Amino acid sequence: MDKQQEFVLRTLEERDIRFVRLWFADVLGYLKSVAVAPAELEQAFDEGIGFDGSAIEGFARVYESDMIAKPDPGTFQVLPWRAEAPGTARMFCDILMPDGSPSYADPRYVLKRILAKTSDLGFTFYTHPEIEFFLLKHKPDDGSRPVPADSSGYFDHTPQNVGMDFRRQAITMLESMGISVEFSHHEGAPGQQEIDLRYADALSTADNIMTFRLVMKQVALEQGVHATFMPKPFSEFPGSGMHTHLSLFEGDRNAFYESGAEFQLSKVGRSFIAGLLRHASEVSAVTNQWVNSYKRIWGGAQGRTAGAGGEAPSYICWGHNNRSALVRVPLYKPGKTGSTRVEVRSIDSGANPYLAYAVLLAAGLKGIEEEYELPAGADDDVWALSDAERRSMGIEPLPQNLGEAISLMERSELVAETLGEHVFDFFLRNKKQEWEEYRSEVTAYELRKNLPVL
Ligand code: GLN
Ligand code: MG
Ligand code: MG
Ligand code: MG
Repeated sequence: MDKQQEFVLRTLEERDIRFVRLWFADVLGYLKSVAVAPAELEQAFDEGIGFDGSAIEGFARVYESDMIAKPDPGTFQVLPWRAEAPGTARMFCDILMPDGSPSYADPRYVLKRILAKTSDLGFTFYTHPEIEFFLLKHKPDDGSRPVPADSSGYFDHTPQNVGMDFRRQAITMLESMGISVEFSHHEGAPGQQEIDLRYADALSTADNIMTFRLVMKQVALEQGVHATFMPKPFSEFPGSGMHTHLSLFEGDRNAFYESGAEFQLSKVGRSFIAGLLRHASEVSAVTNQWVNSYKRIWGGAQGRTAGAGGEAPSYICWGHNNRSALVRVPLYKPGKTGSTRVEVRSIDSGANPYLAYAVLLAAGLKGIEEEYELPAGADDDVWALSDAERRSMGIEPLPQNLGEAISLMERSELVAETLGEHVFDFFLRNKKQEWEEYRSEVTAYELRKNLPVL
């Protein structure tokens, strides 16, 4: 038994923990959990715990349903909302096949595979997400219009504001689980919050995002509200993005930084951005995986008003201080060589973080390997340009809906290779079905528009 495993077993005893939840994500990014008794753990560390994978989205076909969950002791944390003895703890798991080989359906493994390739190239991949979400008065289950839990706006600080108490409790809880928070504030729309996690290696970040979503929902429940990561719950307000800052390090050195270069951005950094841009459309079905995701990036003008908290990207370009751009290179702070990074603004809060980070990383690495040239940056507000102007600048739109995103993904070698055949096929099948369902539904819009007059 290794040191981490010993630490887990000792902690269970010392803190009187009677339940250990083994966590993993399905292909769509829903959190799954199986609880084991502490007595089972020693064996779980050795061999894993068997479960029926056929009931989990994207995991297995019925005839090959036996799967094994093997806890990763490095992810052990006591659940703060179950902290009083006897307590409950959790660990993330790797999913294995009955023969002990990694499961080709495990999103965590998809990310681990590309991270291993990244490390063969000499890099470590760091990510720092800005997670936006809404607090609603309650959880509407019947498709009725949601009601925001407060009526504040961007950076508002008002007494008796649900968001403020919420954020304080939520952040305390995250910190107690080892997840560091860098910033938090009220976002542009009523009820909308943003919490930014401190940068970490991409696997830890993805695990942290899974934990984050559960913690937000838990704290919301305790405060009598409901937290949602749906990308665009309101037509008239901006949606919830999960802008993520990406960087590659070679040992202690930031591989994106080059002193004296334009924006202090190295050749590696420039090709990485070029990769993100060139492959942006084909990875879109993964970074923006729901029908609803495209309402955020294409939703009306109010979603795109700078300063009103809109600013979700619709066009494929990069810029320096341009919040309409898909990729932004934040201002370089003198002396802070470690902080050179790129911010991807398309990804939304409803994404599966393991898969989304895997495809973004794959796109950037492709740019580095193939030495893509970085096109000129766009300093203009690209929404304000005409189609012709954008075309003359070589600026293409992102897919306009899930259907378009699926067709582009289907033809993508990069995404097929990164996700692996099983996840790629399952994902496409599942998303085609969602698109089909959506297309066949007569919407409130049509009824409102047509019924009174036709
Ligand atoms: N909510 C916006 C989005 O969907 C972002 C707003 C901001 O952080 N500037 O991307
Ligand atoms: Mg932010
Ligand atoms: Mg924001
Ligand atoms: Mg941002």
